[in-house]
Amino acid sequence: MCGIVGIVDAGGVSLPLYYALYALQHRGQESAGISVFDGDRLRKHKGPGLVAEVFDTETLKGLPGEVGIGHVRYPTTGANTPENIQPFNFQFMGRSFAIAHNGNLVNTRELRSAFEHAGQIFCTTTDTEVIATLIADELRRSASIEDAVRLCMARLRGSYSVVMANEGALYAFRDPLGIKPLCLGTSPGGYIVASESVAIDALSGHLIRDIAPGELVRINADGISSTQIAIANRVAHCIFEYIYFARADSIIDGVLVYDVRRTIGQKLHEEAPVEADAVCPVPDSGTAYAIGHSQVSGLPFLESLIKNRYMGRTFIMPTQVAREQAVRIKLNPIRKHLEGKAIVLIDDSIVRGTTSRRILQLMRDAGAREVHMRIGSPPIKAPCYLGVDMPTREELIASTRDQDEVCASVTATSLHYISLEALVRAIGHDCDNLCTGCLTGCYPVPIEGETARARVVDFVDDTFQLNLDSFGGTT
Ligand code: AMP
Repeated sequence: MCGIVGIVDAGGVSLPLYYALYALQHRGQESAGISVFDGDRLRKHKGPGLVAEVFDTETLKGLPGEVGIGHVRYPTTGANTPENIQPFNFQFMGRSFAIAHNGNLVNTRELRSAFEHAGQIFCTTTDTEVIATLIADELRRSASIEDAVRLCMARLRGSYSVVMANEGALYAFRDPLGIKPLCLGTSPGGYIVASESVAIDALSGHLIRDIAPGELVRINADGISSTQIAIANRVAHCIFEYIYFARADSIIDGVLVYDVRRTIGQKLHEEAPVEADAVCPVPDSGTAYAIGHSQVSGLPFLESLIKNRYMGRTFIMPTQVAREQAVRIKLNPIRKHLEGKAIVLIDDSIVRGTTSRRILQLMRDAGAREVHMRIGSPPIKAPCYLGVDMPTREELIASTRDQDEVCASVTATSLHYISLEALVRAIGHDCDNLCTGCLTGCYPVPIEGETARARVVDFVDDTFQLNLDSFGGTT
């Protein structure tokens, strides 16, 4: 998970970076950071917590400059410790770099261990530092940063969308499978690259396009240049971005997330119609699905659970009793909308099943007669190794239970998961161009210890081509 942004803007970048990170806050709440090049050196400010907790007017004033990057973190590789907070600034051969990454490498261990055996020390436990080290390593024998990134990409396996500031230029690149999103747009006086288009909207900019899988973009005061570094025979956009992770108002790889969720809601009714009094979302991620359902089922869209939006990560829950109480503080049922009613309840996904079980209890306590759960994703059966924080297989409720058993376990009246076919059709990309690892156990890159293999599992080694002669193109 994590959100990244890079901005080149003649009007200064610290405030636009702050606004963009605010728009990407849903992608990570553990920490936030900004690095800015002021024409002479890199300055940074970062810390644990939400964007609004980490930055204030003074800290932003202390970050002057026209090129910078930012990051919000949700840890997948590396513990949530101060040294792991991004962006990372580093010096190499007299040059200053700042780097931030969204994704998860699957060959971190071997890369890191090779460096360590050569005497390299690391300051963090993140895979991002491994990317930075690889770039520095390749810079020793490269004529340009583009060359170093090209050679670095040939050694990376897994998902990576990266922004990097080097003196007056911003670099942004995306893995050859395009697993995690990255898009390009305008800022008031320049350009922005960000995980999601909502960050561009926050600056009143225009979405230009997505960064292509395997592409490297360089932006400086003179404009944009692009290099297609790696060419693959497929892409593997993360399907979970559309289901849950991205904001509904983002356009990811050409597709408005809200449209996907609304269409899935419609299909949920077509696949499993049920007589009920109303359709209700689990806020907020179930809302677009429930609206779609209501449009075709004719059932009134009726909110019956209201979410308290101000429960941050600092909410104190010292005991199990307090944790139970926290559910009531986070979600409050509207008794009048539930008493004696049959409800279609829509959520984006069931992961462990804990949330659904608690919500169903709340709704029954508030008088609901029947609760028919409809889920916007197929059953989540396998862990994610490519950037979404998912529990182990043992903790995933659907890894060992069929639909009826999950229904009984969460105590719903009935349960239906959207079919994979309908989900893929709602997204509009070919199934082979999506990463469905968490749903199918088939991953687009080989994962050590995983046995389920898609036709694509050998893809990276067999068909990964480096386009060595393509430097210098311009978008
Ligand atoms: P549970 O079944 O208790 O694990 O919770 C599932 C709910 O958590 C889903 O309805 C989502 O809204 C949300 N969710 C799904 N995936 C994640 C994730 N990787 N991190 C945090 N929340 C998630």
